[in-house]
Amino acid sequence: MQAFAETCEGVASTTKKLQKIAYVADYFNSTPVDSAAVSSVFFSGRPFAVWEESTLNIGGALLWRIVEELSGKSGDELSSAYRRHGDLGAVAGEVLTAARQIDLSVVDLQNRFREIASARGPVAKSEIVRDLLSRVSPLEAKYIIKIMTGDLRIGLKESLVEDAIARAYGARLKEVQRANMLLGDIGETLKLAAAGKLAEAKMRLFHPLGFMLASPAATAEEALSYFEDALVEDKYDGIRAQAHCSADEVRLFSRTRDNITESFPELPGALLGMPQDVILDGEIVAWSYLEDETGGPGRAQPFSALQQRLGRKKVSEKLMQQVPVAYLVFDILYIGQELLLDRPLSERSRILDSVLENVRRQSRMQQAGQATFDFPAEVPGHVTRVLRAPVSFASAAAELEQLFEAAQARGNEGLMIKDPQSSYTPGRRGKSWLKLKRELATLDVVVTAVEYGHGKRIGVLSDYTFAVWDGERLVNIGKAYSGLTDLEISEMTRWFIEHTLEDQGMRLLVEPKIVLEVAFNNMMKSDRHNSGYALRFPRIVRLRPDKLPEDADRIERVRQIFEAQQKS
Ligand code: AMP
Repeated sequence: MQAFAETCEGVASTTKKLQKIAYVADYFNSTPVDSAAVSSVFFSGRPFAVWEESTLNIGGALLWRIVEELSGKSGDELSSAYRRHGDLGAVAGEVLTAARQIDLSVVDLQNRFREIASARGPVAKSEIVRDLLSRVSPLEAKYIIKIMTGDLRIGLKESLVEDAIARAYGARLKEVQRANMLLGDIGETLKLAAAGKLAEAKMRLFHPLGFMLASPAATAEEALSYFEDALVEDKYDGIRAQAHCSADEVRLFSRTRDNITESFPELPGALLGMPQDVILDGEIVAWSYLEDETGGPGRAQPFSALQQRLGRKKVSEKLMQQVPVAYLVFDILYIGQELLLDRPLSERSRILDSVLENVRRQSRMQQAGQATFDFPAEVPGHVTRVLRAPVSFASAAAELEQLFEAAQARGNEGLMIKDPQSSYTPGRRGKSWLKLKRELATLDVVVTAVEYGHGKRIGVLSDYTFAVWDGERLVNIGKAYSGLTDLEISEMTRWFIEHTLEDQGMRLLVEPKIVLEVAFNNMMKSDRHNSGYALRFPRIVRLRPDKLPEDADRIERVRQIFEAQQKS
């Protein structure tokens, strides 16, 4: 573990990517393959492989208390160290003193992480952590805490770890990337690379793949500047889900690759009994199966309706009836033994049509939808749960405008505009998928500090300061007071108290984990916040529990919006 921590120090000491890659590759070369494999997961800032469902479930506030106790420092001393470093791991590295040390290997450490994940309750968890941190060097403690909080902050992304694997074992980067994408496990990828067997990496059902992401387009004209003929779908306001379906099992994964099947017990049934294994991509939305005012067969409901269904392990019959959901499928990534990612969207789309048509024919109990907005009428007693997201085509801005208005009239957020020739690129945000939304611009931001409110919100943390990324750093850009429901605010208050890093009285610095989508009227240059920008009339559109902090927007996008605004 000491060698791992020293390598991290080396990586942090340079901003040059090649140098970072060289440090990690040298470390891999000097380490047995099993340890290198575990280290590659740690270098990616995680305690466990992406596909694994274990989580440590230990809050920053608890870690803070353990560091306070082991170091014997006062809360004030710790706070001032935190202000200097902005990172609890680095604080621990500074304030902890050398203890009677054990020789902890990275494999031992991962075993301890597994014990923490399976321990029940904060008391049992903190005992293991305290014991662990009291027996390692301050430098090891620094990186153990960083891995536990999910971010090494040494300028090393998983993509650079892939580079280092390619370099250490003389493999081609493209093959390393492909194996990692298929396996969702950088450690397994490293083992295959070391054995010269990357070509053997096979897609495994129930190991989620990365999701293809979309870039924003400001106007219909801009959208059509990237490709001439567009495949167009409504942009549904729900949560993204990847469905892995075998003949007798279905699992749903969120964008953060968590297994969310238990939250939607009514969906798997509609996807069971496929003639072949498939992986589908789509959006889960709250859906009204009632006829709408135009006599239509129902429509997607706003995200706020779906929110009541999120994050629940147990879902009551009553809630399922109160907030019915549908899975709107728009892509297929795998069928039989074949991975479809490299096929153009137009082909994937045809394959998807026929798969869902088959499901419809096969399943007497439940029906899947057709590729039009005339969703099939309800079979008495049974409701449609899986729908093919309807597709249109457009090659002129005026056509897109019309589709945009129709989508909004159906209550959807806007349009997704896709290049029919494009392959599916997991985890990448390119120009092959574009999103055209209602608000001129919204930003995805990370909450960094919270304050108690005024008036009826006096006892709750309702004022949020939020930030965007500037390189590896979060820089504040605004503060917003409203937009969430009372219930959300009270749930968030509990979370923030549990995840406070520094209590400044009325204001708490919190772990930067919560992502919000914020809208605003315009943007100004300002030295009020350390990003150098401020938002005018910022309002919270919604919480984004489906996004990780690293998915939040970057300062480059802020600059782009600011410049576009100056021109208009
Ligand atoms: P955003 O979350 O604002 O970055 O927009 C991208 C998200 O829109 C995707 O990750 C999906 O969750 C969602 N979405 C809704 N409808 C579609 C669709 N038809 N195609 C692709 N993504 C969609």
